[in-house]
Amino acid sequence: MSESSLILRINELQKQINLYNHQYYVLDQPSVPDVEYDRLMRELIDIETKNPTLKTLDSPSQKVGGQALKSFSQVQHQMPMLSLDNVFSPDEWQAFVKRLQDRLPNVETFKICAEPKLDGLAVSLRFEKGVLVQAATRGDGNTGENITENVRTIKSIPLRLIGDDYPDIIEVRGEVFMPKASFDQLNEQAKRKGEKSFANPRNAAAGSLRQLDSKITAKRNLAFYAYGVGVVQNIKETDAGEVITANNEQWLANSHYQRLCQLKDLGLPMCPEVKLLESTDDCDTFYQHILLSRSSLSYEIDGTVLKVDDIKLQQRLGFVARAPRWAMAYKFPAQEELTILEDVEFQVGRTGAITPVARLKPVFVGGVTVSNATLHNQDEIDRLALKIGDTVIIRRAGDVIPQIVSVVIERRPETARDVVFPAQCPVCQSAVAKGEGEAVLRCTGGLFCGAQRKEAIKHFSSRKAHDIDGLGDKLVEQLVDENLIATPADLFRLNELVVCTMERMGKKSAANLIKSIEVSRTTTLAKFIYALGIREVGETTASNLANHFLTFDAVKQADLESLQKVSDVGVIVARNIVEFFEQTHNIEVVTDLESIMTWPDIEVKSADQQPLADQIFVLTGTLNLMGRSEAKSMLQSLGAKVSGSVSAKTHFLVAGEKAGSKLTKAQDLGVEVLTEEALVALFAQHRLSI
Ligand code: NAD
Repeated sequence: MSESSLILRINELQKQINLYNHQYYVLDQPSVPDVEYDRLMRELIDIETKNPTLKTLDSPSQKVGGQALKSFSQVQHQMPMLSLDNVFSPDEWQAFVKRLQDRLPNVETFKICAEPKLDGLAVSLRFEKGVLVQAATRGDGNTGENITENVRTIKSIPLRLIGDDYPDIIEVRGEVFMPKASFDQLNEQAKRKGEKSFANPRNAAAGSLRQLDSKITAKRNLAFYAYGVGVVQNIKETDAGEVITANNEQWLANSHYQRLCQLKDLGLPMCPEVKLLESTDDCDTFYQHILLSRSSLSYEIDGTVLKVDDIKLQQRLGFVARAPRWAMAYKFPAQEELTILEDVEFQVGRTGAITPVARLKPVFVGGVTVSNATLHNQDEIDRLALKIGDTVIIRRAGDVIPQIVSVVIERRPETARDVVFPAQCPVCQSAVAKGEGEAVLRCTGGLFCGAQRKEAIKHFSSRKAHDIDGLGDKLVEQLVDENLIATPADLFRLNELVVCTMERMGKKSAANLIKSIEVSRTTTLAKFIYALGIREVGETTASNLANHFLTFDAVKQADLESLQKVSDVGVIVARNIVEFFEQTHNIEVVTDLESIMTWPDIEVKSADQQPLADQIFVLTGTLNLMGRSEAKSMLQSLGAKVSGSVSAKTHFLVAGEKAGSKLTKAQDLGVEVLTEEALVALFAQHRLSI
């Protein structure tokens, strides 16, 4: 590249990075993922390193963070608050270690204080005579915002240090962050209220901490871990009566790790994952360990920070423009990336729900190549203000399915087009409709619809339904696609010869499959009902329906009113059941199945055999003496109804170990709570033993 085109590119990069800095640091609203920002910054640093004469003092590569907000009073940091350099691969990490070794020629090996890289924002806390007197953000490294009032609301930050062995002035540095659970809760709330949500816990923490009203910060459940020490001084009075401050570094240990322990002793929280490593050789293991623990930690991290532990060595290594030479952020692969939304297609599920699916330009994110993401429903598309052709931020964290987080509006092409929901089912062309109060569109075709047929058969043969061994999803799809089956009843008309012709089907597996289909002819009424796949009729509801109505005819003929007498059945479920049996195509399949399958009659018990008749029980928590399903069937054998949720209709809640929200709800509603022992005693009273 010629010098003039390099200058042009530098200008472009600086302009873009400055804009992203403003959005991220000042507005707490980034418009692109970090990985995109890091790419631009690396390109800029690369050009500047190769062409040092083109590096300007005001280049963003030479600066820390963003400007402090004017709405807060400003704090001048006595010691600058720097950023960190970062590496992304084992090679880059090794190159850093090599640089350290070159700069410390006579040092054989050095210990490393290894810490998770917390994804929040840096703050400085100043304690004078043990009392928190000032808290500030990092700002541009020299000037931060005074956020003392807001920091006082963070429960894990002590307002007074523990004990009396501390310097007169001590500045503690660390990260304020928002735990994942609080972040999810905050965004859920924002969604419900139709407000803007935060892109990630880092921005949520920054946005919450930089509130003008500290009452809002107090509600945000922020947390803090200390990771360093700034100014440490003692206050002295001279003979002339003048008050002066003098460095008191000697109070501090000569090891970074020990310093964090000193802070911990003073009551400042230290991240429990921090480890002192014997040498740089142990860093990879630490990195891998933290990477594996990432999803189970209660807070977000985006890498590890590896610091030379010996303070004297740190001092020898010193600093560059914006970061210390003795520390390095070894970052994890990105969980967010940019890609293009190429199209939106619509999938039809078992219950006819039509789900928009984003077809994306394949992108490597969170360790895999992602080319699809679910968009849930129209509300989600509206919330994202999504158009086909948009550049979108895609997120894939751990095993969680990929999600579109937001649209980069500034990159919207002129050709972008709206996402239009189909008026007809994309599979069977039946009309689509939205149920009352539902966000989801559904195909009205029922079992007439090819997609619903496949899903209905998969559900029918699933483990909790008729548990047909050897009938995997792929096989169901093949059988339907080849027009060999169209309904669950058709399964019973298959034979070995036909099954054998399917892909990857040997004689033996075909014979086994036909055998399991035969076995499933005999079932129970509850399973028969459950396997039909009526919307919102799960196992418990199906079992309650069976025990209440005793025969399938009675279930089929039940009206809205009588259905609602069954525990767990409210108006919506009752309506789903009635609507299911109103559809001719469903009745045809059901009648067919009735002629094929059998189940034993449900014994009608006399009143004394059903001592708990009409009593509604809910089970929650861990039962140690018996399994929950055992407790449930024993209760049912005594005539009780077992429901999945607590309501005013519930008579008893059986609370095992670690019972949670159901117990609280039962207590609020004044529902009688039984311990597991009380339940066992109740069984014994009715001559049932476990
Ligand atoms: P940084 O976040 O990469 O690293 C420095 C910061 O790490 C410190 O200031 C501190 O707050 C934090 N940290 C967490 N754990 C730590 C620990 N154990 N010890 C020490 N420090 C710890 O640097 P930065 O300067 O704050 O921000 C730059 C990064 O921010 C970029 O690499 C990019 O990922 C992101 N960014 C993104 C955008 C965007 O538009 N998406 C814009 C600007 C910056």
